[in-house]
Amino acid sequence: MAISGLFACSLLGAGCMGFPGRPPEQPQEPSTPTATIATMSVDEEETAPSMVAFPVEEYATRITKKRFGQYVQDRFTGYHAGDDIEFADDASRAREIPVGAIADGEIVRVSRVSGYGGVIVTRHAINGRIITALYGHLDLSSVTLRPGDLVTRGQFLANLGEHESTETDGERKHLHFGLYEGSDGRVNGYEAAEAGLKKWLDPSVFFANGG
Ligand SMILES: [Zn+2]
Repeated sequence: MAISGLFACSLLGAGCMGFPGRPPEQPQEPSTPTATIATMSVDEEETAPSMVAFPVEEYATRITKKRFGQYVQDRFTGYHAGDDIEFADDASRAREIPVGAIADGEIVRVSRVSGYGGVIVTRHAINGRIITALYGHLDLSSVTLRPGDLVTRGQFLANLGEHESTETDGERKHLHFGLYEGSDGRVNGYEAAEAGLKKWLDPSVFFANGG
């Protein structure tokens, strides 16, 4: 089975595959020749190709501060309209953290936005829906893509911005990832009223459902 995305996820949400640095697939058990061995490969086609991929490594385990829907009162006030995936630990600050496209699609925005620093927005047709993805706190100097460019699932978009720098608009090193259906172009990270969250998708549910 070909794995084309850096952070490809299984369609059934069973987790990430093929991420660099992970140990390779479990080696095959030494097989004992038997009369039935020729039938053992029929399940290779059981897994359909996944349409979506996590935008960054260790997506689920690094959501330690603000997840989708959480009410926040700090520099910002409101209901968090995405997930924050944290890379502010010393080891992560010392290396580049690549952010990849969640699916085949198109770049619709590459710009600096107050509260985020660098932002990229991508748009995708996934399972019959138009899905817009927002990636915040990026190092724009690492970006070569421009609005209108096409991307493939897992394609490199940008590195995360440096911890507490202009690249992150002073924020810690993390990815703010927002997701919604439609294409109205909004980039806010919070909703003042809880009802406003209905305009957004919970990314963890989205990935668990394979889009
Ligand atoms: Zn955030």
